[in-house]
Amino acid sequence: MTKKMHAAVVEHFGKPLVLRELEIPTPGPGEILVKTEACGVCHTDLHAANGDWPLKPGLPFTPGHEGIGIVVAMGSGVVAVKEGDRVGVPWLFSACGHCEYCLQAWETVCASAQFGGYTRNGGFAEYIVADPAYVAHIPPGLNAQAAAPLICAGVTSYKGIKETGARPGQWLVVSGIGGLGHLAVQYGKAMGLLVCAVDIDDGKLAHARRLGADATVNATAPDTEAQVHKATDGGAHGVLITAPSLAAFKQGVGMTRKLGTCVLVGLPPGEFPVPLFDVVANCITIRGSFVGTRHDMAEALAFAAADRVKADIELQALAAINDIFSRLAHGDVPSRVVIDFAPS
Ligand code: NAD
Ligand code: ZN
Ligand code: ZN
Repeated sequence: MTKKMHAAVVEHFGKPLVLRELEIPTPGPGEILVKTEACGVCHTDLHAANGDWPLKPGLPFTPGHEGIGIVVAMGSGVVAVKEGDRVGVPWLFSACGHCEYCLQAWETVCASAQFGGYTRNGGFAEYIVADPAYVAHIPPGLNAQAAAPLICAGVTSYKGIKETGARPGQWLVVSGIGGLGHLAVQYGKAMGLLVCAVDIDDGKLAHARRLGADATVNATAPDTEAQVHKATDGGAHGVLITAPSLAAFKQGVGMTRKLGTCVLVGLPPGEFPVPLFDVVANCITIRGSFVGTRHDMAEALAFAAADRVKADIELQALAAINDIFSRLAHGDVPSRVVIDFAPS
């Protein structure tokens, strides 16, 4: 094993990432070392590198929370995985395991949670240190490149759809058909829902139709909400907002059927106005959803292992990271870019 590894590092918020040669980290007691095979690039990585959110990561840090690789070394006391296992190092890097939220299996909202590629160095590097109790276990038959988008975009979409409470045969709106949304369309169909896809880009909407969407509406139309109400015969039972745009949030509430639930997963910085009378009088629920628990992760991966969901990926080298970020910022990534570490 060489002593150094390549990593793409955020040294200053809002500035290009810097390719560095860093020491390969050594796993401490209870930790593992993962040799990265692939890592998806999530819009969250862009928010992280821009310092968009109130809780900022310490600088410098290595982003990436869709890293998949092979366990190559273990600290003392590790029993949850063994060397040679293929695992994913997700956003939920670790949690305390004993707070009131962890005890309810809601480890995603643990106050002591650490976040991969944010508060802990992530997968834009040839090696990642991970907590074996929180890694994703990649089912046999899924290669690293195919699995990468599932451990954030996939699980977040799947959990968000569950949180809408929409049942088979009911309507789901997916707003934002990018990395998360193109998987949400597929999870929605696999879960027996009718899916209406909403995006500002006709190319993304055409892609949603190829993936099985039953209806599509362009969010730039002046009567977007009315078009969705027409397509869904009165509004969607569940709405999932993945768009990193505040405009999509107000619109999404307006697309929700009476008694329906609008789930917010997109994370553009800022606030959006809620039309209070409509929400109250129509008994609409607005709820946030944050990645997914380990149980959600296993379920989300099982859909892919059973060929019900497949990420559309574009493979790129780590050195292309700044170009990938600029395309992501401009909505120019068709679905998901995955950094491929395999051929070096
Ligand atoms: P992406 O850039 O791949 O896709 C975003 C999509 O939204 C694009 O297709 C874009 O055309 C579309 N869009 C932009 N403005 C729109 C609008 N006004 N209406 C409808 N569609 C619009 O991004 P991604 O990787 O899918 O991430 C999306 C967001 O979700 C980001 O803010 C990210 O931080 C957040 N996220 C949240 C969680 C969570 O746990 N809640 C997890 C992962 C990502
Ligand atoms: Zn993500
Ligand atoms: Zn906890």
